[in-house]
Amino acid sequence: MLCEVCEQALAHVTCTADAAALYLACDRDIHSTNPFASRHERLPVGGHSIL
Ligand SMILES: [Zn+2]
Ligand SMILES: [Zn+2]
Repeated sequence: MLCEVCEQALAHVTCTADAAALYLACDRDIHSTNPFASRHERLPVGGHSIL
């Protein structure tokens, strides 16, 4: 599953609010832009947890 933002890197998380698969850096880019987005719940792809 590829990141839906850059479409180049493998997605590491899915955002439940956006229903989007995201690479870690893109996830951080998107969700650091405003306080509402930063509250989105993200789930790890593939069942491995990331902290
Ligand atoms: Zn990306
Ligand atoms: Zn989100």
